[in-house]
Amino acid sequence: MKKMLIMGPPGAGKGTQAEKIIEYYGIPHISTGDMFRAAISNKTEVGLIAKKYIDAGNLVPDEVTVGIVKERLSNPDCKNGFLLDGFPRDLKQAEMFSDMLKELDIKLDLVLNIHVDSEKLINRIIGRRICPNCGRTYHITYNKPLKEGICDECGSTLIQRKDDNVETVKNRLDVYAQKTEPLINYYKDLVYNVDGDRDVDVIFNDIKKVIGD
Ligand code: ADP
Ligand code: AMP
Repeated sequence: MKKMLIMGPPGAGKGTQAEKIIEYYGIPHISTGDMFRAAISNKTEVGLIAKKYIDAGNLVPDEVTVGIVKERLSNPDCKNGFLLDGFPRDLKQAEMFSDMLKELDIKLDLVLNIHVDSEKLINRIIGRRICPNCGRTYHITYNKPLKEGICDECGSTLIQRKDDNVETVKNRLDVYAQKTEPLINYYKDLVYNVDGDRDVDVIFNDIKKVIGD
């Protein structure tokens, strides 16, 4: 199975597609944002450092981020493929990632790049709700749970991410445009562009075609 990155601006639908990809292909979803949020709620050392950067919509320092990715990719469950989401986030991280892949003897196969126009992203992010227990993502208009405010999967009460507010979102979109978007060129030989402004299942069918069986 393939070793892949999923890229795109905040709110493009990376987490939503990742949920489907990992279920269908049985590979781990490695989301640096999810790892940081878990570290914050468990009040670990990494969580204590990361919190102020995340709350402001800025990037967590590389010393912390690169370490957690390397540790996670070293796990045997990544041997048969993985989907990395939210890393690398700038050119420096991409270069460090490239060294890490060499060291771990891993070859990256595919970079999925989801595109959605920026004016639509704010709505998607402000309306996002997540399950703090199982991590499933919803939207108050586009992707509603069966029962308002309750996770379909595990029955927990849904929450809004602290960084999903208008001010922080603007900074996150700026950080993406300045630092992360240039990586699409860095990975140009591996990139598959996905139009993310379609129905969730239509997008997933498109992604399945490129990943293959
Ligand atoms: P990302 O992980 O890229 O930040 P998410 O997967 O969390 O984005 O999606 C952001 C919000 O947009 C969520 O509330 C999600 O339910 C919603 N969403 C995801 N994909 C679509 C889509 N194709 N159409 C409409 N809304 C979507
Ligand atoms: P995400 O869940 O991908 O939207 O990420 C939420 C926040 O976590 C970001 O706004 C950053 O503050 C932090 N973060 C996630 N991944 C990284 C990364 N690779 N490098 C630095 N900070 C990150």
